[in-house]
Amino acid sequence: MIELRDLHRTYRIGSVDVHALRGVSLDIAEGEFVAIIGPSGSGKSTLMHVLGLLDSPDRGRFIFQGRDVSALTEDQRAEVRSRSIGFVFQQFNLLPRVSARENVALPLIYRAERPAQTPEDLLRQVGLGDRMDHAPNELSGGQQQRVAIARALMNGPSIVMADEPTGNLDSASSADILRLLHELNARGLTVILVTHDPDIAAKASRIITIRDGRIVEDV
Ligand code: ADP
Repeated sequence: MIELRDLHRTYRIGSVDVHALRGVSLDIAEGEFVAIIGPSGSGKSTLMHVLGLLDSPDRGRFIFQGRDVSALTEDQRAEVRSRSIGFVFQQFNLLPRVSARENVALPLIYRAERPAQTPEDLLRQVGLGDRMDHAPNELSGGQQQRVAIARALMNGPSIVMADEPTGNLDSASSADILRLLHELNARGLTVILVTHDPDIAAKASRIITIRDGRIVEDV
């Protein structure tokens, strides 16, 4: 599904170069549950942004589902992203004033054809069948993250990328969200999870450790 070869990403701040990724090579197969772990500032989010086609590398090759996506334009990346990738973030990123149902339906704005599953189907799947008309401030953190996961699934992605998805949750809700991601993975979805928490990473089937922009371990 994913092939990275010698990927580099450097940020320029004023006259200073920050080398966030320094030659990352990596293959991820369909159906894997991968945790990317490393200390703060090691390049995890940068790697996820490149993997998720939110950002492009400066150098290196990125093959996504058999297609070279290393040098796509912003619009081309958005197209691949909206069809194939769902995102889940630490801050949920829900619209505050609309219902769970409307939040989940948002990705449909970018899509012409009818979805395979409705927002209602997806909310039931994540265990919120009885909360569809609640606004985010009427839901617990764990429930809000469930809404965000349902939204990530709206366009029928083959891969979900989650950046510290349990970072704002208590331990019971964290366990709950991880269980949901594992259930989705068991149904065939590829999951890439970024975390700084070794206990969360330990439940993945593969753990990639990144430090100073390089992969130092892949087990
Ligand atoms: P992590 O997710 O592991 O905390 P990041 O990928 O966010 O690490 O950051 C890697 C390095 O790149 C850090 O030194 C960080 O300060 C820098 N960095 C990240 N994003 C930017 C940006 N948009 N502009 C400049 N530097 C950045």
